[in-house]
Amino acid sequence: QSAKPGGDTIFGKIIRGEIKTDFLHEDDQCVAFNDIAPQAPVHFLVVPKKPIVKLSDADDSDEQLLGHLLIVARKVAKQKGLSKGYRVVINDGQHGGQSVYHIHIHVIGGRQLGWPPG
Ligand code: 5GP
Repeated sequence: QSAKPGGDTIFGKIIRGEIKTDFLHEDDQCVAFNDIAPQAPVHFLVVPKKPIVKLSDADDSDEQLLGHLLIVARKVAKQKGLSKGYRVVINDGQHGGQSVYHIHIHVIGGRQLGWPPG
């Protein structure tokens, strides 16, 4: 666990307001904001305020929080008008292509997506 509440990554700075970011959603447990490098017309992130490093580091006590992130993901996706569907992704660790080590859910949509990913 990091010394700073919210963690020491770029997402910790965003959560603490040290980097000004427009939130699509904020509550006591998480925030949602647009990805800085969108991979589709809609691409936002849902990030818990608790700085869990990655999914593989989450433990059983995080069950409610992880479920909450998915509920927020679907609410914001609805607000964004993604009525034709969307993709929800968590990249974990090196092989998962994770680049920011503060767990986050990607929500990607607004165009037809291919499968499988590269
Ligand atoms: P990962 O590769 O860890 O699954 O995803 C990290 C995501 O965070 C990337 O899609 C990247 O574009 C996004 N990102 C990195 N830095 C920033 C930032 O400062 N602001 C925002 N809004 N997104 C960021």
